[in-house]
This record gives sequence, structure tokens and C-alpha cells, in this order.
Amino acid sequence: MNQPDPKCAKCGGSMVEGYSIDKGHANTALASRWVEGPFETTMWGNADTKGRDCRSITLWRCVKCGFLEAYAIEPAETPGFFTP
Ligand SMILES: [Zn+2]
Repeated sequence: MNQPDPKCAKCGGSMVEGYSIDKGHANTALASRWVEGPFETTMWGNADTKGRDCRSITLWRCVKCGFLEAYAIEPAETPGFFTP
């Protein structure tokens, strides 16, 4: 993410780069992703992400007030939650 020294939109404080984490199967840790369209599930109850645009999420956190700003720019591999 090319955003050198971004400032908080709420208070003007400094922002630090990070990401949101999710728990995957068997306690593995996965970075959250942005997926295009409304949330829908397959007949197995998993998120249906087949054929959708998927991006990795970069979260910037303000060190002063805690405000989070999210960017979803880099294309990411769609998690294997779709119908096989
Ligand atoms: Zn702030």
C-alpha cells in the first residue's frame, strides 16, 4: 500500500499500518479479505465467494484516537469457501 505517513481523518493523528485477522480451520490465522457483493452462503453454509472480486485488506489505525481506515486494493486469492 503506497500511502506514506497518512493522517487520521478524524483527529489528524499518525496512522500505523496493520490488518484484521480471522481464525481459520484448526486455529490457523487468516488475514481478513474484502469480497465483492452481498454475503451469501453455499448449501454447506460456507461463504459463497466463487467468481467474486477478492482483495486483501490493509487497516490503518490512528495512534491518537483509534480510528480505523481500511483499504482493499491488492487482489487476493479467494479463500476456498466456494462450492467445489
Ligand atoms: Zn485519530
